[in-house]
Amino acid sequence: MLAPGSTIGILGGGQLGRMLGHAGTALGFHVHIYAPDAELPAAEAATHVTRGAYEDAAALTAFAAAVDVVTYEFENVPASAAALLNGLKPVRPGVKALDVAQDRLTEKDFLRSLGLHTAPYAAADSGATAEAAFAALGGREAIVKTRRLGYDGKGQVRARNAAEAAAALRDLKAPCILEGVVPFAGELSVVAARGLDGTIAAFDAAANVHREGILRTSRVPAQVNTAVGAEAGRIAGVILEALDYVGVIGVELFLAVGGALLVNEIAPRVHNTGHWTMDACAASQFEQHMRAVAGWPLKPAARWADCEMENLIGDDVLNWRAIAAEPNACLHLYGKSEVRAGRKMGHVNRLYPLGGLP
Ligand code: AMP
Repeated sequence: MLAPGSTIGILGGGQLGRMLGHAGTALGFHVHIYAPDAELPAAEAATHVTRGAYEDAAALTAFAAAVDVVTYEFENVPASAAALLNGLKPVRPGVKALDVAQDRLTEKDFLRSLGLHTAPYAAADSGATAEAAFAALGGREAIVKTRRLGYDGKGQVRARNAAEAAAALRDLKAPCILEGVVPFAGELSVVAARGLDGTIAAFDAAANVHREGILRTSRVPAQVNTAVGAEAGRIAGVILEALDYVGVIGVELFLAVGGALLVNEIAPRVHNTGHWTMDACAASQFEQHMRAVAGWPLKPAARWADCEMENLIGDDVLNWRAIAAEPNACLHLYGKSEVRAGRKMGHVNRLYPLGGLP
């Protein structure tokens, strides 16, 4: 167990790093953020900040020397940076989780190898292979996604026929996968943690609503039958074990009309659909993650309230006065100076007694 006063290094300086920083400093750790960006929401929650490129080996080496353990708040940490740091200090979650989660094709193959269900998919790296992939998926509507570096619906195009799939490949200019469109009854996620000792604690599944590819709300309980909720937790556990994982993971799921769960994607980090845990659980996903990477025991993931989390995106944040006056609303703002359309500015957790979610 890392003692209080130890330093936890975090790659990435956005809102997730900020909330990890708050959780880490509350446990008595020093938090050292490493990120290249000019504006760093995490800086206000950190003890030290290094502004450096992920390609800067000297700066990364100095960062490693200054910390006791390294974690990250985004999954697109360049492989070279992860490998360099891994040789110097423990990197938690490990490099394997990054490898799997950075490439949608590797990720889908990995999930299938564990016996988990996913949307049907096929790889495509040119217009011609896109037409073949479209046909292989049964010639029905597909979603073309870049294999790497997509987020919040970016790098995704719907294709209704083979010609559109080929055109999407040309527009995206990157290796892609085509996914069959899942006619889901709803979208769920599980945020779960695995400790250094192998203990697993999964928070309750959340029911999520996305608009324009961006998460809008997460509601807990998800109002699915108990078998579905248990299966969601089991799936997260299978993935955590297979990756020999340490820390918090987000697992996004489609709930099929018949009740089956398909894994959409995994995020090897704290996750937007777990923000409700900040106010509805004894330990938030952020504390749970810091505990895991520091080798501390996990807290139970039990939930003490029902909750709806609403993301404050772009102008939504201008309602802060009204939200601040709502008695059951817990407001979390990220300190970003500029309001832009589609930008996550904060979130609000509205709490209800157990069984009282409207
Ligand atoms: P992703 O970036 O892959 O998580 O996709 C963002 C959102 O697009 C998901 O949360 C779904 O709402 C939708 N989506 C992605 N892939 C599929 C699919 N294969 N079938 C249906 N909807 C999808």
